[in-house]
Amino acid sequence: TRRPLVAGNWKMHGLRASLAEIEAMGVDYDAALRGRAELVVCPPATLVALARDIAVRAGLGLGAQDCHAEASGAHTGDISAEMLRDAGAAYVIVGHSERRADHGETNADVEAKAAAALRAGLAPIICVGETRAEREAGEALAVVAAQIEGSLPSDAPAQIVVAYEPVWAIGTGLTPTPQDVADMHAFARARIEARLGGGKGAHIRILYGGSVKPANARELLSVPNVDGALVGGASLGARDFMGVAAAY
Ligand code: 13P
Repeated sequence: TRRPLVAGNWKMHGLRASLAEIEAMGVDYDAALRGRAELVVCPPATLVALARDIAVRAGLGLGAQDCHAEASGAHTGDISAEMLRDAGAAYVIVGHSERRADHGETNADVEAKAAAALRAGLAPIICVGETRAEREAGEALAVVAAQIEGSLPSDAPAQIVVAYEPVWAIGTGLTPTPQDVADMHAFARARIEARLGGGKGAHIRILYGGSVKPANARELLSVPNVDGALVGGASLGARDFMGVAAAY
């Protein structure tokens, strides 16, 4: 059985004062909810080390939003998975569509980052998802299949997490229908198993991301093969984030 995971991606939001939101999340993250779902917050890199003790006290896991593919080296401005692990992270998002678009990250780049995360002892949350144009062209399944084939290290263990985030649903208030989500997640699980083999496909958590809010969380998170959510805007405040988690 797959333990549901609700992960918050703060993107480029958050100053030290925002750490109070993580503390506040812990207030509602009681033992009963902990038994039902795992919660993780991924603040910007500047806050990861500062968030560690607060997240531990709140019972939340800690993640980062990107890492370099190498453990160290002459890469000014970059941060390695080892550094994130050292700062207290247990997860790292890789291949988010904003990084694929803003920084030209390819599937091969994402695979290398996911492999680096695994070497450092982090669980990568590997993001895939089609654009609006790709969906309208009837290419959504093919695009996601190619991203899974190209972005997951072929020897990845079942600890990896995959997040399906249709680009057109991110920050737009639009979401796919539950049937579309069900179709995509069942398809993704089959492609993950084809990529990794070994029965791992049944154990890997596949998150849905894109305009998840308290008001739609129950509907989206009850879809078969949806094992949690990757939440953007609604993860910045404790009230909304815990409202999403309350779907479990
Ligand atoms: P929103 O929840 O703000 O749509 O963002 C989703 C996302 O990109 C999470 O990684």
